[in-house]
Amino acid sequence: VTAAVAGAPARLHKRLADVVGAEAVRSDPGALAAYGIDATPLQRGKPSVVVFPTTTEQVAGVLRTASEAGVGVIPRGAGTNLSAGTVAHHGEILLVLTKMNALLEIDAENLCAVCQPGLQTARLGDAVEAQGLLYPPDPGSRTTATIGGNVAENAGGMRGLKYGVTRDYVLGVEAVLASGEVIRVGGKVVKNVAGYDLTRLLCGSEGTLAVLTELTLRLVPKPQASSVGTAYFGDLASAGRAVSRTLAAGVLPATLEFLDAYCIKTVEAFAGVGLDTSAGALLIFGQDGSAETVSADMERIADACRAEGATDIRRASDAAEATRLMEARRAALPALARLGPITLLEDATVPRSKLAEMVERIEAIAASYGLTIGTFGHAGDGNLHPTCVLASNSAEEVERAHRAFTEIFAAAIELGGVITGEHGVGLAKLPWLEANLGSAQMALLRRIKQAFDPAGILNPGKLGS
Ligand SMILES: Cc1cc2nc3c(=O)[nH]c(=O)nc-3n(C[C@H](O)[C@H](O)[C@H](O)COP(=O)(O)OP(=O)(O)OC[C@H]3O[C@@H](n4cnc5c(N)ncnc54)[C@H](O)[C@@H]3O)c2cc1C
Repeated sequence: VTAAVAGAPARLHKRLADVVGAEAVRSDPGALAAYGIDATPLQRGKPSVVVFPTTTEQVAGVLRTASEAGVGVIPRGAGTNLSAGTVAHHGEILLVLTKMNALLEIDAENLCAVCQPGLQTARLGDAVEAQGLLYPPDPGSRTTATIGGNVAENAGGMRGLKYGVTRDYVLGVEAVLASGEVIRVGGKVVKNVAGYDLTRLLCGSEGTLAVLTELTLRLVPKPQASSVGTAYFGDLASAGRAVSRTLAAGVLPATLEFLDAYCIKTVEAFAGVGLDTSAGALLIFGQDGSAETVSADMERIADACRAEGATDIRRASDAAEATRLMEARRAALPALARLGPITLLEDATVPRSKLAEMVERIEAIAASYGLTIGTFGHAGDGNLHPTCVLASNSAEEVERAHRAFTEIFAAAIELGGVITGEHGVGLAKLPWLEANLGSAQMALLRRIKQAFDPAGILNPGKLGS
């Protein structure tokens, strides 16, 4: 599927302008360069044209036009994905959904919200909180990323341990198939076994099965109170044991994040929030609920940390300090990114009981390849973000990092984990997917893709190809 036919881009531009209006189609060099990249380092492509639809009918028209022309289509939200999920390598149409960004309804009676895919996650979160409700998924990119991108990647966040990830909040989806047909799957109902669970299948489908044009999302009542605390440890193994001890004590924290020693120093140098840079590991923990539950649980988490040798355990004294601590964790990626010309942020998940062992494996692999890799992530979910800061952008160093990550993913699989917990496969993780899933499962993914998109026009060359 390609637009690489002589004269094709100009004809395609004209046909798309007939569908969405001339002002909503761009194929000037600036637009093609800007939309040729996403947040993934080292990956650059070039679409043949960029379109900005404003209605579901226009999306359907774009897909029909693409099918007729035999050109691929890459749906895109804010382009913050870290797996090259929106990089165009075959002159595809970039279908940018950010103009479809309306919050259509907050339905307090049915505890749900209905929105278009281009709505920013933080805008949804703020709007529902103003009505005493909570939309729990909170990826670090929430002020930029879109709900459509979150659903297509099945994004996680810092509340994942207690509240789950995006897919746990998707009740219904309006989607446009490659044929241009519009389907509505699920809706405001909370119980639904009418047919295969296509809602779940579309979550995490990375723009390869359909274009999401409307989402119905589950909300929960906003907790009355919340609190955040920190505990420093001599090493990450002790912090990992404190996580297990906390969960074994029957506490399910709303937040349980970690930074290793390298990340603590880097974040402190960047954000200056007063972190103890002599520590071997930092746990940031939090709870929400009734004031009594929060108070009792925060004490029990502190007890678990103390029992595992935490040197300094603190609780934020007010909401501003709690926000600062959470921001310190969110600052990990930008802080690391300042240190070198290329920062490779990766994503792997292991059973949480293997967290400390996985970090040790990462440290050993980094040392054997002569690389600097800092690790932070969601301790409660066993989801790690080993992040490699390259000293240069030389091909040799990039290749060395690639080999190190191949070993890191092999270690995650060996420990019973997966090669991505929340950032998706995209182009970047495709080389490792079969090692994780096996050939029979890969073949099944391809047959599912074939059933949705027989001509292979949706996000070609990625998941399911
Ligand atoms: C600083 C930073 C922090 C981050 N923190 C987190 C985090 O905590 N947790 C996490 O999970 N991720 C995180 N991410 C990764 C990224 O933000 C998420 O994957 C996010 O969900 C992507 O949303 P987006 O709108 O930018 O989507 P895009 O990057 O535009 O697209 C992502 C994928 O979704 C598809 N897609 C987009 N919109 C649609 C649609 N309407 N229909 C069909 N397919 C569509 C695209 O084709 C692509 O495959 C982070 C990224 C950055 C840069």
